[in-house]
Amino acid sequence: MEGKTMIISLKKGTTQEQLDELVGKIEADGLEAKVIPGETKTVVNVIGDTAEKSTEPYESLPYVDQVFRITERRYAGVTKEHLGQKTIVKVGDISIGSDLLTIMGGPCALEGPEQIRDSVELARDVRDNHQDENIEGYVMRGGAYKPRTSPDSFQGQKKEGLIHFSQLAHEYGLPIITEVMDPRDVEFVAEYADILQIGTRNAQNFPLLTEVGKSSKPVLLKRGFGNSIDEFLGASNYIAREGNQNIILCLRGTVPMKGSVYRFQPDIADIVYLRERVSTPIAFDPSHSSGDRDLVIPLSKLAVTAGADALLVDIHPYPEIALMDADQQLPPKMADQFMQVVNLYKGVYRQEQRLLTELQSQNGSGK
Ligand code: PEP
Ligand code: MN
Repeated sequence: MEGKTMIISLKKGTTQEQLDELVGKIEADGLEAKVIPGETKTVVNVIGDTAEKSTEPYESLPYVDQVFRITERRYAGVTKEHLGQKTIVKVGDISIGSDLLTIMGGPCALEGPEQIRDSVELARDVRDNHQDENIEGYVMRGGAYKPRTSPDSFQGQKKEGLIHFSQLAHEYGLPIITEVMDPRDVEFVAEYADILQIGTRNAQNFPLLTEVGKSSKPVLLKRGFGNSIDEFLGASNYIAREGNQNIILCLRGTVPMKGSVYRFQPDIADIVYLRERVSTPIAFDPSHSSGDRDLVIPLSKLAVTAGADALLVDIHPYPEIALMDADQQLPPKMADQFMQVVNLYKGVYRQEQRLLTELQSQNGSGK
């Protein structure tokens, strides 16, 4: 399907009046315009059936830089091609997608008032003890709504747990990320969380993706464990086309091969591909991918050297009695080792990036 969506990128210095004029033209053509301001460039997503529309009337406007037609198979969000730069997702003073590594750590589930308090204090300590050179910042994770295979299993602390978690974490200056499973809960969860997480089981829940696309809060979208990269990017388009460009793409392993030692097959190689193609920050979850705490640090090291911007990792004050995913959560000591190792490897990655930039400028070419 060719040409369903169009993206118009504007020249630097385009005025508000010119932008209003463009939006007016798009709407007069029976289409919808979503304006996406960027740090150095503004782009406009043109939504609707643009297949029959000529790009010429837009291209001829003096403030229009380029008009792109987007096929269904391509990423309709902001790509490197459109912006020529990485997208930064801002969470408080943390810039996810900068050249430093963001850690999103905490328990798989919020289990009760005491565990929430102990987990928040642990996250604060891990953050404070590791203000390391290559670490951008620390966001705390914790699931209030848990997607469980059986309806009889623990379903999470839901509203009450989320409110308690949010208050405590924010007292320590820790922004939080938590999963939202139901479109009807988006407004409530967005009131308390700093990042909305879409879990692997809801990766193609299109009404949910549309709803979080309307939110002003950043969204971390996990890849469906059975989804191709095209399907993953297609899912992210549901969020982007509603105007929410604050998306973090999170790889977390795919359906394991028969006999695999992993809970889900680590899809770290796909970080390399996404890094080349999209400007969106990329995260990796070594905990749900491995299902085994002994594999979390080595997998994290690979993800960082592949170019991940963030790691979403299960850390629990006492994993041996965790209500779920007990085998994969890092206890405090291992959390310390984890921080040291990922800081080290992010440093190596940054060194490599500097070297490549230097070599490219010497060669005077892009590659
Ligand atoms: C989680 O991160 O809490 C979670 C349930 O992960 P996933 O959706 O990747 O299984
Ligand atoms: Mn889990």
